[in-house]
Amino acid sequence: MTPIYQTSTYAQRAPGDHQGYEYSRGTNPTRKALEDCLAALENAKFGLAFSSGMGATDAVMKLLQPGDEVITNNDLYGGSYRIFTKIFANYGIKFHFINLHQPEIIHEYVNDKTKLVWIETPTNPTMQVVDIQAVSSITKDKNLMLVVDNTFASPYLQNPMDLGADLVMHSVTKYIGGHSDLVMGALMMNDEDLYKRLWFIYNSCGATPGPMDSFLALRGIKTLHLRMKAHCENGRAIAEFLKDHPKVERIYWPGFTDHPNHHVAAKQMRDFGGMISIVLKGADLKETFRIASNFKVFTLAESLGGVESLINHPATMTHASIPRETREAAGVVDNLLRISVGVEDIDDLLEDLKNALA
Ligand SMILES: *Cc1c(COP(=O)(O)O)cnc(C)c1O
Repeated sequence: MTPIYQTSTYAQRAPGDHQGYEYSRGTNPTRKALEDCLAALENAKFGLAFSSGMGATDAVMKLLQPGDEVITNNDLYGGSYRIFTKIFANYGIKFHFINLHQPEIIHEYVNDKTKLVWIETPTNPTMQVVDIQAVSSITKDKNLMLVVDNTFASPYLQNPMDLGADLVMHSVTKYIGGHSDLVMGALMMNDEDLYKRLWFIYNSCGATPGPMDSFLALRGIKTLHLRMKAHCENGRAIAEFLKDHPKVERIYWPGFTDHPNHHVAAKQMRDFGGMISIVLKGADLKETFRIASNFKVFTLAESLGGVESLINHPATMTHASIPRETREAAGVVDNLLRISVGVEDIDDLLEDLKNALA
């Protein structure tokens, strides 16, 4: 097993004779083992681990200068929307939030200040799928950096580097860690110059994870493929159960052939995952809360991607920081519930859903 190098500093034989290990903010052997593993998972040359997904996102944005512009999805993870609009907008970076259903629309927003395109696919929580290859052919043509938040798919289901991304971002907290016991982020890339610039930000700003969490992430990764198979299998069974349920008005899951981007999902993903959102038929906020609080096997909680099944109310939980109008335009209505399907026995999960929706 990779040892947990629980140290902040390293003995040097003579000043400067440190074999690359000076101080653990910048380098730690347990973290390095994890970073090599993370890079391998995404078919990338380099990996960097951060103390959260948001720490990784923050580092990417620090590559930019005031005046630069970013094009991104209009249905982003709430925390990404928040850091863009409430932090980096104040430093003079301009964000265009657009519907990337038709990637060619990017052309309408590109100008000489555009530097970066940030996409999330599938999106959170409405499971919209963006065609990574189509976007990357535009970003390559326009000389823009393409970053893909691959948290929802996990490296088991989708590898954006192979589809032309320059940088892959993960909230390791979710599927990669997989056990709801750590908060961590990651960036993976092929370009050595980009790696050096990001390592400089990582070491200078200091959002780097400790050795114990790095060990836990490495341990979680050992079962990523087993967990993902179970998430996908249970996810399919639950999506099919909910699709025709009388209390369900609408369901979002990219595995259905009538999902608007199913063909793109089928092309770029190996399976469709265990993230499902439903809109409850005729339910007001009170009724939605009643149903959300009615589960015994699912836990009402933020986050996703762990072995335990979770239920979440995006409008008041994960996406509460997005103004109502913007949120509702992206489909995050008050009667929407998001489900992170875990790896428990499928009969227990279906029984719990049946009872909670009754
Ligand atoms: C959770 C999440 C993040 C943020 O990651 P943290 O580890 O919570 O900081 C970013 N993007 C997506 C899609 C997420 O689900």
